[in-house]
Amino acid sequence: MNTCTECGSEDDYNFSLNIGLCNACIGKKIERLEEENRWIPVGERLPEEGVFCHIFIPAFNKCCPQRGWYKPKKRHWSTTTRGRETTRQVTHWKPITLPEGD
Ligand SMILES: [Zn+2]
Repeated sequence: MNTCTECGSEDDYNFSLNIGLCNACIGKKIERLEEENRWIPVGERLPEEGVFCHIFIPAFNKCCPQRGWYKPKKRHWSTTTRGRETTRQVTHWKPITLPEGD
C-alpha cells in the first residue's frame, strides 16, 4: 500500500500519477502552484513596498515583462528598464521566484 507523503493517507493515493501524493493533496498542490504563478491585478492587491517583482505594462510589454517595485506613498512603480523610470501604467504584477536549493 502506498501512502501520501503530505498527509499520510493510504485510501486516496493516486497510482496513475504515482508522485507520492493522494488525490486531495495533488489538488491542493495544483491550486498552490496556480496561485504562486498567476499575474495579480493591481486592483486586487499590491506588493509590499520595495519588493522587486515582475510588472506588466500593456503599452510596453508585448513580449517580456519588466521588473520593478511599488512605492505606496507616491502611488507609482519604479522600473530599471531604461535608467530609472517611474510609471503608473502597471496593470499586473507577480512575485519573482528564484531556483530552489543550492
Ligand atoms: Zn495526501
